[in-house]
Amino acid sequence: MTEIYDLAILGAGPAGISAAVYAARARLKTLWLEKKFTQGGQIVNTYEVDNYPGLPGMNGMELGEAMAAHAEKLGAVPMRETVVSVEDEGSLKVIRTKKNEYRARTVIFAFGAEHRQLGIPGEQELSGMGVSYCATCDGAFFKDGTVAVVGGGNTAVEDAVFLSRICRKVYVVHRRNQLRADKILQERLFACGNVEILWDTVPVSIEGTEETEALKVRGTKTETETLLPVDGVFIAVGVVPNTQKLKGLVKLDENGYVAAGEDGITSVPGFFAAGDIRAKNLRQVVTAVSDGANAVASVQRYLMEA
Ligand code: NAP
Repeated sequence: MTEIYDLAILGAGPAGISAAVYAARARLKTLWLEKKFTQGGQIVNTYEVDNYPGLPGMNGMELGEAMAAHAEKLGAVPMRETVVSVEDEGSLKVIRTKKNEYRARTVIFAFGAEHRQLGIPGEQELSGMGVSYCATCDGAFFKDGTVAVVGGGNTAVEDAVFLSRICRKVYVVHRRNQLRADKILQERLFACGNVEILWDTVPVSIEGTEETEALKVRGTKTETETLLPVDGVFIAVGVVPNTQKLKGLVKLDENGYVAAGEDGITSVPGFFAAGDIRAKNLRQVVTAVSDGANAVASVQRYLMEA
């Protein structure tokens, strides 16, 4: 007979790991799936997470590993499988992966989010050949070189500070005249002697054949185009939620995030959402882990009442 789980947790970023910890302590019969080899989601690509209480200046990869080790200590280890589809059969939910088919009474979606693309010429063609979305992964390839970082949020500013320690020169290309990043990060950026910020400037195209050679930018106020000779372009223009598989299954908001409150309850009974895929104001590690805990509390209530 097919095994029926109380709960399926899909994803092993901070929200998924937190859910796994709470589910283990609640002794729920849990299926936990993650498509990547690493746990920790987006933070594993973060050089330094400086706002998680109790762990100032923690390296992102190490924080991910510490969280995963905590879950493992409670007996929770995700299976490395890619979810292909999820179906609602009322009191049972069917989860299909590339290899298997599972049944669970509840599901917590914790698929997280992925970097947004600019959609400019050269971006895809030169991806991996100077175009990168992860400064901590690829920064070392540009030692003593010149790079551009596109964006004005926390990621872009952190990346620029990180790259300024490795590269000779770092351009920050931002479409407005004010950064979105936290003030403390802005202060660190402004203190870097080799960073030049190009305000009110948008990227137009990335030039090069076998490798990245230049970034063409345009001033939004001047309409002037400039060719910046660079060895690398780091794109940090935000994230998009991994909710493609959830379209038509649960209600999404106008930006593609799962419509669910802090309790994680979605438009469909038995489906819950946690972490960066949920519609909310603040996407941080601290809010993701909170989501995971809340979602399991909602799952427990749902299972008791079912
Ligand atoms: P974000 O906060 O959404 O910032 C995206 C930046 O890219 C914004 O400055 C935006 O400009 C710009 N942008 C968006 N689309 C663009 C386009 N098509 N062309 C040019 N520029 C574009 O994204 P994020 O920095 O990746 O951060 C994502 C989430 O993770 C945030 O909640 C952030 O706080 C969090 N995070 C936190 C930390 C930390 O606390 N240590 C570190 C990294 C990330 P506008 O400003 O004009 O909109």
